[in-house]
Amino acid sequence: MNPFEWKREEVMLSPKEADEVKTTTCYMCACRCGIRTYLKDGQVRYIEGNPDHPVNKGVLCAKGSAGIMNHNSPARLKKPLLRVGERGKGEFKEIEWEEALSLAVEWLGNVRKTDPKKLAFFTGRDQSQSLTGWWAGQFGTPNFAAHGGFCSVNMAAGGLYTLGGAFWEFGEPDWDHTKYFMMWGVAEDHDSNPIKIGLGKMKTRGDAKFVAVNPVRSGYGAIADEWVGIRPGTDGLFALSLVHELLRTENVDLDFLARYTNAPWLVIENPGGADDGLIARDADGNPVCWDGEKNAPVSALSAEAKPVLAGPRTLPDGRRAVPAFDLMARRYLDPQYAPDAVAERTGITADTIRRIAAELAHAAFSQEVTIDQPWTDWAGRKHDKMIGRPVSMHGMRGISAHSNGFHTCRSIHLLQVLLGSIDCPGGWRYKAPFPKPIPPGPKPAGKEHSPNTPLGGMPLGNPTGPADLLVNADGTPKRIDKAYSWEHPMSAHGLMHMVIHNAWKKDPYGVDVLFMYMANMAWNSSMNTPGVLHYLTDKDEDGEYKIPKVIYSDAYYSEMVPYADLVLPDTTYLERWDCISLLDRPISSAHGPGDAIRQPVVKPNRDVRAFQEVLIDLGARLGLPGFVEADGSPKYPGGYPDYIVNHQRGDGVGPLAGWRGEDGESHGRGAVNPNQLEKYIENGCFWHEELPLNTQYFKHANKDYLEYAAKLGWIPKAEQVVLQIYSEPMQKFRLAAKGHGEVQPPDEHRLRVETYFDPLPIWYMPFEEAAVDTDEYPIHALTQRPMQMYHSWGSQNAWLRQITSKNRLYINPALAQKVGVENDDWVWVISHHGRVKGQVRLMHGTNAETVWTWNAIGKRKGAWNLSADASESKSGFLLNHVISELLPARADGFRYSNSDPVTGQAAWFDLRVRIEKCLPEEAGETEPRFDAQPKQPDAFETPAVLAYGADFSKEGAASGTTHREWLGNRHEYAQSVKGIADGYGNRPGKDGSGEAAE
Ligand code: SF4
Repeated sequence: MNPFEWKREEVMLSPKEADEVKTTTCYMCACRCGIRTYLKDGQVRYIEGNPDHPVNKGVLCAKGSAGIMNHNSPARLKKPLLRVGERGKGEFKEIEWEEALSLAVEWLGNVRKTDPKKLAFFTGRDQSQSLTGWWAGQFGTPNFAAHGGFCSVNMAAGGLYTLGGAFWEFGEPDWDHTKYFMMWGVAEDHDSNPIKIGLGKMKTRGDAKFVAVNPVRSGYGAIADEWVGIRPGTDGLFALSLVHELLRTENVDLDFLARYTNAPWLVIENPGGADDGLIARDADGNPVCWDGEKNAPVSALSAEAKPVLAGPRTLPDGRRAVPAFDLMARRYLDPQYAPDAVAERTGITADTIRRIAAELAHAAFSQEVTIDQPWTDWAGRKHDKMIGRPVSMHGMRGISAHSNGFHTCRSIHLLQVLLGSIDCPGGWRYKAPFPKPIPPGPKPAGKEHSPNTPLGGMPLGNPTGPADLLVNADGTPKRIDKAYSWEHPMSAHGLMHMVIHNAWKKDPYGVDVLFMYMANMAWNSSMNTPGVLHYLTDKDEDGEYKIPKVIYSDAYYSEMVPYADLVLPDTTYLERWDCISLLDRPISSAHGPGDAIRQPVVKPNRDVRAFQEVLIDLGARLGLPGFVEADGSPKYPGGYPDYIVNHQRGDGVGPLAGWRGEDGESHGRGAVNPNQLEKYIENGCFWHEELPLNTQYFKHANKDYLEYAAKLGWIPKAEQVVLQIYSEPMQKFRLAAKGHGEVQPPDEHRLRVETYFDPLPIWYMPFEEAAVDTDEYPIHALTQRPMQMYHSWGSQNAWLRQITSKNRLYINPALAQKVGVENDDWVWVISHHGRVKGQVRLMHGTNAETVWTWNAIGKRKGAWNLSADASESKSGFLLNHVISELLPARADGFRYSNSDPVTGQAAWFDLRVRIEKCLPEEAGETEPRFDAQPKQPDAFETPAVLAYGADFSKEGAASGTTHREWLGNRHEYAQSVKGIADGYGNRPGKDGSGEAAE
């Protein structure tokens, strides 16, 4: 047979793949890639990446393409549910939306007219916090936050208080020019496609080194040029040792420090005084530096200043002061930060630390990157080129989720600043609307709250000192999660992980209604999961639940649903409008600002409503200002799309920045454009503006960029953002702890505030490690998230479950041998708080004092409409069960939350454990086990064999070529190729038949 004969057959080479293609934004993780959905017969046939989209440029990951299975998940809720049995038993009746909303209005209305703080409104991983936070403010409760407090607020706050921007959503490496890239503690799920694209670029260029610092060599680390398998919780110490080396070898960018940072600012030295450690200021309040030419103090904000960076000075009023750089250099040149001194604790050899410091210095100072692009700095000085130090960094939860994470993030930023590699060619770059002033406004609202009264601002903000705390006159917390209290003063994202515990304990007070959205707090989003299940079901002596009412909105039958009294079923991401806003978490890149929408690409086939629609409806029904007109009618009768287009947060500033103005020609700022959403849809559901090259770098000090940012309302004035190596807000808290100022901490918190509010980065042992007996609990335990899954959404996905349907406990072979376990053994993982059982897998790419596992794979039996014997619930396990939300008790019995003392970030990764091999009869199934969740009412069928899409192939029959026939052709093709291969002396198979060709 002629091997090419098959080509003459009539096959449909261009089958009609879809009736329609609609663009929208992926929501299978938080990266917000643009997607095209191919729709056939009203169903999603497949999803592809949108090649025009600035975030992913057409790239689609496994999660993104498997979105079809989230959209069709049998776990989808179908109708509002009202609890009829005991809480937690999953006994519900289906109700109509009108009844559900009336009930919610009754519960919420009663709270609002009596004591609005008795509403605790906390949302999970939604991307609409500018709406939800504003709603809470209009309601009048200070008790609002989203998931940032248990995710990565240390990373965000550490950056915002140092650089006016941060890793992840606020910045990115200059992938096109960087020569040395350090990635600190990043699992594969955050910034997923953008990082993969960036790493691909960098590796293809082949002239950059990629160093992954992570106790686990997972996905990204696998392609790193060097893996630094650091001991958990010591990243800050490693970073400060690199600082030590750079200072010791005089490899720091003094010009950059003098010009763009507060290194020259004079810090008052007046031990015991109320001004000790504050910045010296002139009569106008400007920070002061010492001018070396004038030999006198001058405003540090003057372009003419010639600042010196070292040496004590005497101010005109006789006080002593010293440049911040001097304080910083003296601290980190101390031998305690020398590589030899930190090697054992970090698990990194001193030689390696010295070498990496030398490599950083070489990349920064010997491999400068120059872009021939003139630009003008904040003072009007012209520069004919953009010259960069091509060292870039990125960090995420691994550095953040420790009780020392805030200072670790500041330490890494200090390292970047010393190298002069901020927003320069080859360095780390801001994404619009960052940089912001340091710290960015506004301050948290909620000092006062009263019935039927809005809060007067957004509940979350950034304190500048003790006066901004939300505390009572006696220093006790005003918020239910104790955010912005003396326990964790700069908790910029709240403490979602403490809400249920505190509400149960009525500490500082009880709540009437707990209102949550998209947060699986009864399972993988909580520390101490068994405890949280108790808190949610525990009753007072009068028989009432300690948390009287729980309203919960979710698209799926997650583990949290049975613990709600009223369930408001949400849509999937393909059935809804959404707004990915510059007011919130936009899709900007370092090249320019951007935002995006989701549009409904298919209609819901169930009685569900998008949560944001429901929130706007509730706002109107409750008569919240901002949600109603003067006559009491709804302000946004068209629901969420109406709000997206017509809401204005400021003059000409709305949720979307693109195509504003009546003619739709304004971008950034402008009047409402009624056709705005149509313009977004025409453009692929996103807006992105490429900044002129002269404004793309040095944004913190670039005149043209700063003027543009001020015009768009991102910063109050076109003023330089001075990078803060020394943090005066931190010192203000410390001074209060020493007894200065009007707002004073209760005595029991003084020492803690004084210790951890150091204005320069510090390193200290993570709290759990310091508190427990490390002989009894000698091992660190961590979680990572797999690239193919994002929280519990992904691990219920029928296609993604085929990649990972259970998790193992990964352990370094040397450690396994030490504790006497082997591959496939079942072991107990035991912490000071509890124990959980899992199965072992040996893995070389793990720090030798650490075990780890994938997070959120383990599921409760019956949850997510999975079968009761699903491997996720039999073999999958959660480390959450053994992480306590409280630290071990202090001597006086007081227990702080298991959080960073500065920001309140949940310290997930401080966990210490020991490993014990299970008895033979204990092997085979995970523990602790919980009663199976009963099936949700009217649950979707769960087919034993899934064949989604089989019907699509029938299309071929109409055109004369069936799918089966096409497969047959493929077989013939393979046979033909085999023939050709045989003809060219193909390598024979085992039986000598030449089968290897296939
Ligand atoms: S990286 Fe995230 S947003 Fe992008 S395609 Fe994958 S799941 Fe979707």
